[in-house]
Amino acid sequence: MHHFDYKNNALHGEDVALSDIAEKVGTPFYCYSAATLRRHFRVFADAFKGQDTLVAYSVKSLSNLAVLKLLANEGAGADVVSAGELKRARAVGIPAKKIVFSGVGKTIDEMTLALEEGIHQFNVESEPELLQLSEVATRMNKRAQIAIRVNPDVSAGGHDKISTGRKEDKFGISWERAEEVYAQAKDLPGIDVVGVDIHIGSQITDLAPFEQAFTKVTKLVETLRAQGCPISRLDLGGGLGIPYHHNHGTNTPPPPTPSEYAALIRKITDPLDVQLIFEPGRMIVGNAGILVAKTIFVKDGDVRRFLILDAAMNDLIRPALYDAYHEVIPVKEPAATAEMAQVDLVGPVCETGDTFARQRNMPPVQKGDLVAFLSAGAYGAVQASEYNTRPLVPEVLVDGDQFAVIRERPTVEDILKREIIPDWL
Ligand SMILES: *Cc1c(COP(=O)(O)O)cnc(C)c1O
Repeated sequence: MHHFDYKNNALHGEDVALSDIAEKVGTPFYCYSAATLRRHFRVFADAFKGQDTLVAYSVKSLSNLAVLKLLANEGAGADVVSAGELKRARAVGIPAKKIVFSGVGKTIDEMTLALEEGIHQFNVESEPELLQLSEVATRMNKRAQIAIRVNPDVSAGGHDKISTGRKEDKFGISWERAEEVYAQAKDLPGIDVVGVDIHIGSQITDLAPFEQAFTKVTKLVETLRAQGCPISRLDLGGGLGIPYHHNHGTNTPPPPTPSEYAALIRKITDPLDVQLIFEPGRMIVGNAGILVAKTIFVKDGDVRRFLILDAAMNDLIRPALYDAYHEVIPVKEPAATAEMAQVDLVGPVCETGDTFARQRNMPPVQKGDLVAFLSAGAYGAVQASEYNTRPLVPEVLVDGDQFAVIRERPTVEDILKREIIPDWL
């Protein structure tokens, strides 16, 4: 569900024509829909109504301050993976008590900051981290509330590079060692053991791996409690997938809805009487964002037609990084009778990897035409870089009939100014 539709033959974000935004800010740009963001957050939060729940939005999926502020207004907490993300969450007024800190490599400085802020929970991913955190907290005369991320060893499908819950993945503590590490944690001076955490992967479109993992982790909570660990929270991570194919027919079944997901979780975890913590990212922002680009050239190669766009892998790296699929549609609505033809969609960067799609069926697109990459809200703008000295892609938020630039496009002069030539050159 999203709010990017054709009206009067032109693609709109809510009530704003994307061509109007393009005229104002240039291309390429990301555009997010406030209505979609609110809707997705509410649907997820409402699915757990009546249950003690913290929805800690995964800041890494889309971390723009305006988006965080919008979600904070809806009551969102934050799942952060760095001091930078923690500062973002605090900057928009997300209370420290709604912040959880994940990630395999927290530094001493990051631990110190999070303890000073008084965050809700650290999700600890290894024994060295546990010992370090206890030491830092003790030195500060504080105690860190922790959950240990356990690795339930389920394979959640999806792309290899976004699977996280298997034995060979770098995340969490192995299932076999969990009880032993909890026993150790319980006796550490700077540590309060409060929860168990899992996150089995991303873009999971089937309930079965969730059911498997959540059932396993529920048993673990019971075992740990019996061993004297006062587990009062269960962090079930993020990972619920979204549809990336909208118009074209495909064999992929639709991902579970939040209410189906919630029903499964309630059935499994109800007897535990715990606070449930969730860290959804993609599910909230994925379909709430698009990337709009302009066609620089239509190039007819010997065997293929290329649409050369002014967006590139530095603006949206998902296709190059994990073969991600993004639906691409013209901003000007094609005629119902328009003939489809296969094209390769590429960017101007000097890498063969700078290819968004090969042999994609598209209606006719001409030089100068705008196209929109759908479902680009999550892991899009946040992974953008300035490779090839292409200025960081700007971000725009629409809300009804208004829109605002929420991150400006830097000028090339801005980029050059950050660099320093030493005197001795
Ligand atoms: C990335 C991540 C998430 C968010 O995953 P989504 O698939 O975007 O919902 C949640 N928790 C942790 C620990 C993560 O690393």
